[in-house]
Amino acid sequence: MVETVDKLQDELSRIKKQLRKSKSDLSKFRAVVDNSYDAISTIDANRTITFCNDAFAGIFGYSVKELIGRSFRMLHVDEEHFHAFGRTVYPLNTVKGFWKGEWEYRKKDRSIICMETVVSHLWRSRKLTVGYIVAMRDVTQRKEAERALLESETRFRQLFENIRSGVAIYEAVDSGEDFLFRDVNRAAERIDKLRGESIIGQRLTDVFPSVGEFGLLGVMQRVYATGRPQGHPIALYKDERIEGWRENYVYKLPTGEVVVVYDDVTDMKTAEDNLRQSEGNLREIVNAVHAGIVIIDPENHRIVEANPKALKIIGAEAGRVVGNVCHQFICPAEAGKCPVTDLGQVEDNSERILRTIDGRQIPILKNVSRILLHGKDHLIESFIDISELKELQKHLQELATTDSLTGTNNRRHFIELSSKELSRSQRYGIPLSMIIFDIDHFKAINDTCGHSAGDEMLREISSICLRGLRENDIPGRIGGEEFAITTVECDLPGATIMAERLRKDIEELSVRCDDREMRCTISLGVAQLRPGEDLDPLMKRADVALYSAKNSGRNRVCAGT
Ligand code: GH3
Ligand code: MG
Ligand code: MG
Repeated sequence: MVETVDKLQDELSRIKKQLRKSKSDLSKFRAVVDNSYDAISTIDANRTITFCNDAFAGIFGYSVKELIGRSFRMLHVDEEHFHAFGRTVYPLNTVKGFWKGEWEYRKKDRSIICMETVVSHLWRSRKLTVGYIVAMRDVTQRKEAERALLESETRFRQLFENIRSGVAIYEAVDSGEDFLFRDVNRAAERIDKLRGESIIGQRLTDVFPSVGEFGLLGVMQRVYATGRPQGHPIALYKDERIEGWRENYVYKLPTGEVVVVYDDVTDMKTAEDNLRQSEGNLREIVNAVHAGIVIIDPENHRIVEANPKALKIIGAEAGRVVGNVCHQFICPAEAGKCPVTDLGQVEDNSERILRTIDGRQIPILKNVSRILLHGKDHLIESFIDISELKELQKHLQELATTDSLTGTNNRRHFIELSSKELSRSQRYGIPLSMIIFDIDHFKAINDTCGHSAGDEMLREISSICLRGLRENDIPGRIGGEEFAITTVECDLPGATIMAERLRKDIEELSVRCDDREMRCTISLGVAQLRPGEDLDPLMKRADVALYSAKNSGRNRVCAGT
């Protein structure tokens, strides 16, 4: 009996112990649940909330009190969500005994949160479910981060695919001696004429056998070893499959992969070569042309280049010309007005002065235009030495206006100059007269002394005539042995006196011909301009007076009426 009592006693203390233990287990469990960061609740079979911890209530923005005894429905997004949850969750996985998934709920402030949710049975006995434990964790932020990551990955992918430069990502192998293709973008496929799928996982040195020679492999090895990015300047890549000029930039990712960003610069290189070639051609042309050409920097007016012809005109070697301001040689008197001063001021075919290295002034005909040189605006001035042309022009002018035998004005020029004086006299009412004279019996002089003696006589008479003139008087040889003088600011009596003096001077003239003295006389006619009269009638009236002198015995002056 005692034994039985003892046994019972033991059993009781064991049960008490167990009870104490399970009580402390339960309070431990309560403490864990209450202080858990996870949201924990229990619901009964009707899905009424029977318990929840602070974290659970807090997540939804309610207090614990507000939730206990209420339907779980209030935490769902809508009616449909509530029923869907029921359909999905409650036929709990019979093997695992719980359901785990992400579900969207509605908070008190009506906003929606996504929660990782675990639901498991609350058993009374093995057969009867009295409710469920619902544990939740807010994964809204994680979801957001996932979405942002996905988005940034998509963005990165888009950038990677659409960037104009080729991008290839490699993984180092053989301790960074060689590299395997990990990824290439579309530009890389286009530049290297290959398909990404077929090279992923392949060795760089197999796909691009000349990569070592090209210099890029060494750069990649260095970047992999040091982690410092490095550029590989423009170089020609060439193997049996492809050929082209490439510019590369290599860097290492924090993950250890090596990225090569590169461009195909073949077109640019070709254009550059063509430009260089055409610049070379241009230089040859510039050097070969007959015109002087200087190129000027418009900012400081300095001569940047001068072709051989320009140096020849200036009379110095390039060393003494290039680098100097252009005004030193070109347009020296116009320093402030030089087209260089103002880029917009570009004159073509203007006559300018060039000063040579020894100070001579040479007339030049100059063109200015703009030229883009080394990417910068310059002026190109081309010029020709027109000193010979100027001489010729002067000579032609003389030929056109002077009489070659006597050097005085020819008939045409005499008429031209006289007409101008006549208009001026008419305008201001200044008197003007005309003297016309003809050598008497000149035929006889030619006949007896010869034609050249006659010429000599003509020259002598002309120079005597010029000697007696005032500055504004206009002389001219108007026929074979006939001369005229337009006397400005001179009336009929004055002109008559002048004519008489001339007659006397010529009467006293003697020209040697062989051993003989040669003499001659002249007959003169004088007329004064009438108001409103033209040159022609004036000359006619002087001519009539001349013939009166001839008819009345020669070697005399006759004044017209
Ligand atoms: P008159 O007194 O009537 O004027 O007699 P003239 O002999 O001068 O008259 P005429 O008009 O018959 O002759 C002019 C001569 O002048 C004819 C021509 O041979 C000569 N003569 C004209 N031009 C020149 C010239 O440039 N040189 C020379 N040596 N003689 C010329
Ligand atoms: Mg005569
Ligand atoms: Mg005559």
